[in-house]
Amino acid sequence: MRKEFCEALAKAQKNHDLSREEIIVLLEAEGEELEALGRAADEVREKYLGREVHLRGIIEFSNHCRQNCLYCGLRRDNKHLRRYRMSPEEILAAARKAVELGLPTVVLQSGEDPYYSAPVVAEIIRRLKEEVGVKAITLSLGERSREDYRLWRQAGADRYLLKHETANRELFACLRPGTSWENRLRCLLWLKELGYQVGSGNMVGLPGQDLETLAEDILLLKELDVEMAGIGPFIPHPQTPLAGEAGGSLDLTLKTLAVTRLLLPLAHLPATTALGTIHPQGRRLGLCYGGNVIMPDITPLPYRRHYQIYPGKAGVDQEIETNVASIRDLIASLGRSIGRGPGHSPKWRGGVELYEMRAGQLY
Ligand code: SF4
Repeated sequence: MRKEFCEALAKAQKNHDLSREEIIVLLEAEGEELEALGRAADEVREKYLGREVHLRGIIEFSNHCRQNCLYCGLRRDNKHLRRYRMSPEEILAAARKAVELGLPTVVLQSGEDPYYSAPVVAEIIRRLKEEVGVKAITLSLGERSREDYRLWRQAGADRYLLKHETANRELFACLRPGTSWENRLRCLLWLKELGYQVGSGNMVGLPGQDLETLAEDILLLKELDVEMAGIGPFIPHPQTPLAGEAGGSLDLTLKTLAVTRLLLPLAHLPATTALGTIHPQGRRLGLCYGGNVIMPDITPLPYRRHYQIYPGKAGVDQEIETNVASIRDLIASLGRSIGRGPGHSPKWRGGVELYEMRAGQLY
């Protein structure tokens, strides 16, 4: 193994802090270095977060989107996609099923769809907690106003996932026309101020991205001090301008995940469905390279196949019960256990009490 690799790895394990250059050295790992990187990330995960894997049931309730991101099948110019919206009652029914299956927390995800007004979403959040008994709610609804975020937080939303997608501003501007990196960051800072557990993250293997960009992605996640980081491979969608691009590799995604674990030892890191889509063992490997979360898709079957950010999504035709059972088997086969309770971030001291305490100062 290279001397500089061993030094950077030892430093990351000890200090959880690296320079951009040292991160790049780790991202260049191959062969036995790659294995050593995975082992180190796994040890850090075990030391800080234990053996629990948290399950979050994800409900993709609308595939309408006002944005036109070049990499995404939900982009508004994709006229081949059959669009759908779930009603509040359908969302509640999906969440009820999740709770019955032992998934106490849910993620509400959609394209950027202003059809769902802030009060409508707030009412869904309230009912999920009060009527369905959901323990924690993550929202992933894109860029909205601070007032919308505030309303949802007050209604009981606990977490918000807003991936920064890429830390390279020029690449961001090119891939997400009509949106700005600055506004993305502003939204993330609002969410933090409002007491959400904040998740961000990036894609691996985007055209125009290099190891330096990935190192910047990881450093940005550290600077934001996120509670969650979603890191998955870019998978080209045939009905987007990036259809002919190569897509992210398994190894580079695992390396990015592992380095993120080393630098953010307390963050929740999902073994993503996208990782499971590019490789049959992707989710297993994700859990072995620092991952501690899986988000089973509990969107009702008639809708699920139409939530096509990327094609060929793993488990797209699988019954929810079968999908959850196979995830439970996977976790057991690794000698790990299913997380109990809401699975809040261990570094999150927020909670309702702190939020209420801060609310007086902030608003
Ligand atoms: S990445 Fe998000 S905002 Fe962009 S088109 Fe897809 S769903 Fe819409």
